[in-house]
Amino acid sequence: MPRMNREKLQSALRELDQAKYNHERWYKDLIRSITCQLPPDRHDLADNAYRQCRFGQWYYNYTDKEFVNNQTYQSIEVEHRKMHGLAANLLNMSVHREQISPIDYDDFANVLDRLRINIEILKHEIEEVLYNRDPLTGARNRVSMLSDLRSLMELVQRGVQDTSICIMDIDHFKRINDTYGHQIGDQVLMHVTEYITEHIRPYDKIYRYGGEEFLISMPNTEIETAKMIIERIREGLMTLTAAYSDTEPISISASFGIALLTQDMSVEESIERADNALYASKKNGRNRLTAWDPSMGA
Ligand code: GH3
Ligand code: MG
Ligand code: MG
Repeated sequence: MPRMNREKLQSALRELDQAKYNHERWYKDLIRSITCQLPPDRHDLADNAYRQCRFGQWYYNYTDKEFVNNQTYQSIEVEHRKMHGLAANLLNMSVHREQISPIDYDDFANVLDRLRINIEILKHEIEEVLYNRDPLTGARNRVSMLSDLRSLMELVQRGVQDTSICIMDIDHFKRINDTYGHQIGDQVLMHVTEYITEHIRPYDKIYRYGGEEFLISMPNTEIETAKMIIERIREGLMTLTAAYSDTEPISISASFGIALLTQDMSVEESIERADNALYASKKNGRNRLTAWDPSMGA
């Protein structure tokens, strides 16, 4: 989902809202039929009722791959299908004028709750991507970066864990734009983000710090380990040679500056340390990493 563009995410959100509304209408009608013992809608008694309701029609016609692999989206299918089975059961009892036991009703109501919660979670997940991600690369943006780093800082201050951060700046990126054009430059940025996202640990995060600059946060990681992780990424990026559209193969390198989030210092000051270390990497020839040390000031 992070790689879906803004328009797609916004339209997914609108469709989900509509589907949710349709589902609530379906629910109202169901309760009305059962309570007033009206003849049920025949679609609701069908074996594949979950495909026939409007919510189901939305669900099974939605084919965006990014969504199909989403766990919440998958849970929605399971709960929705189960809910229709239990709803048909209640309707059948109502049609045959049988008393509905509290257990049967509660089973239905519980599944319905889980479905509703999963729909809300999916909405939150889409909104999270929409508001906290950089639309070009899918990396997290600076707003979420500061808020995440402040949370990590609280753990640092309580002595719970070390956290390392790294600022990365692509070397001579302007040349790529100048040689191949801005669009190819954009593709390189996307490719770099994808590579790093795939090669950091699940709890590390990558943020787009500015144009061709990124920040990587590494919770529970002291400097020496951070250096090893970043060194692997630095080497990996050099092998990332790729042809974009019909360009010749383009290769890139990047420079890195690493620092610890440190007690009694603001997040901004720690970022400044990483930035000073990055500056040293650039000054000493680029395509290298430097960890901050006190001789660099700040
Ligand atoms: P250095 O090794 O010193 O970092 O050199 P550099 O060329 O990478 O650095 P410089 O700061 O001179 O240029 C950065 C370039 O990145 C300039 C800017 O046009 C480009 N850039 C920033 N954001 C984007 C973007 O979103 N897309 C593209 N294609 N280019 C971008
Ligand atoms: Mg730069
Ligand atoms: Mg650069």
